Amino acid sequence: MNATTANPGPGTPAADSPSANFSSLPLAPHTLQNLARLGYSSMTPIQAASLPLALAGHDLIAQAKTGSGKTAAFALALLANLNVRRFAVQALVLCPTRELAEQVTQELRRLAAAEDNVKVLTLCGGSPIAPQSLSLEHGAHIVVGTPGRLMDHLERGSLQLDALNTLVLDEADRMLDMGFFDDIATVARQCPKQRQTLLFSATYPDGITKLAAAFMREPKEVKLLAAHTSSKIRQRFYEVTEAQRLHTVGLLLAHYRPVSTLAFCNTKQQCRDLVAVLQAEGYAALELHGDLDQRDRDQVLVRFANRSTSVLVATDIAARGLDITQLEAVINVDITPDADTHIHRIGRTGRADEEGWAFSLASVDEMGPVGRIEQAGHFVSDWQPLASLTPASKAPLLPPMQTIQILGGRKEKIRPGDVLGALTKDLGFVGAQIGKINVNEFSTYVAVAREIAPAVLHKLSTAKVKGKTVKVRLL
Ligand code: ADP
Ligand code: MG
Repeated sequence: MNATTANPGPGTPAADSPSANFSSLPLAPHTLQNLARLGYSSMTPIQAASLPLALAGHDLIAQAKTGSGKTAAFALALLANLNVRRFAVQALVLCPTRELAEQVTQELRRLAAAEDNVKVLTLCGGSPIAPQSLSLEHGAHIVVGTPGRLMDHLERGSLQLDALNTLVLDEADRMLDMGFFDDIATVARQCPKQRQTLLFSATYPDGITKLAAAFMREPKEVKLLAAHTSSKIRQRFYEVTEAQRLHTVGLLLAHYRPVSTLAFCNTKQQCRDLVAVLQAEGYAALELHGDLDQRDRDQVLVRFANRSTSVLVATDIAARGLDITQLEAVINVDITPDADTHIHRIGRTGRADEEGWAFSLASVDEMGPVGRIEQAGHFVSDWQPLASLTPASKAPLLPPMQTIQILGGRKEKIRPGDVLGALTKDLGFVGAQIGKINVNEFSTYVAVAREIAPAVLHKLSTAKVKGKTVKVRLL
């Protein structure tokens, strides 16, 4: 395998090098125009390193951290292989979860907007299978899905792969974590031998080499070296005893007052305990864990991303692949034994041009791992005394928004514009007081400024959305 290693900072466009320009790639003019329209002015480092190889037709293993723009790296390659006039599945993207599959589908649709009528279909468990089969009959160019459901369709014969030219394994490390190796193998065996295979991953566990050996042909390797911690992320360490650890999270929140915080624990039990402690202290905290069903998981993510929950508590596995753009702080409630994992955790804050805080709580027993993290990140820890954590205000830390759930979603053909229209035109609320509107299959979630939430709830319950009265509740 040939290895190419690039080493710019994580997620930052490699704007200083001329080859970071999308126009240096063999892309059609309308694709370049579309990228400009999307505000993609230059390639991210992983795109600059992988796209020339992928567009030249090579199999590729690409590793870079979450949020570095891997989706567009494989999307532009598979779109370049696509013949829109051929009504058959030509590209298949395997993802570990439905939520990630939906994110990929959205990004693919945005990137395919330059081309007429590219049909992208999501096939995941948790939705009825018959309507999916029907959509497949109507034809799709690109299918994005989870391994289990794709196998179901292959067994039923509703999905045919003989016209496939690109197979993508996205978040391959996470799929391996979830035990999908055999399912991936089953799907890959049904793809034509003559094809391009692209594998994307945030980390590089042993299983990746096994996957590559089984399904790829002389893959090129592109790795972005573990990011040196960016200067936009300010790290602080606090020494705690086990008895102090969970309570210290509340002290950090009261002192720094971050609007959105992602708190990492090493075990599910620790996550549960922390949420209980934070809720008892009056913080809006929710846990993201693998045992939630899809609907509850979606709801937790929506409530965090729309800024109506202050703290999301998760293990590394549960948080993988999350793309949350506005995150003021990351808290390492437990120190991870793996230095790369620490760098991934804190790299989720300080995105774009924002500054971010990364706090780590370490007991005496965790000083070994802290030392390894310092070495890997080339920094010296900034230790602060616990006594410095004094509340910045008497007022409790409340999220700026509250979420109102409308019982009705895509199934009822509700669109964000319908809800915004009802709130602003019909009910007289100001657009600036309304935050994210997420329309899911059966529910719509509207974030509104905390001050107006009771009034919105009251008025919406008697108003009409899409000409119908709707059931609403405050979460
Ligand atoms: P990853 O798969 O590596 O976690 P994503 O593909 O989800 O990352 O991309 C993260 C975010 O960056 C997305 O919101 C995406 O729209 C945006 N993005 C990707 N490429 C570019 C680019 N070249 N310029 C600006 N934004 C980009
Ligand atoms: Mg991704």
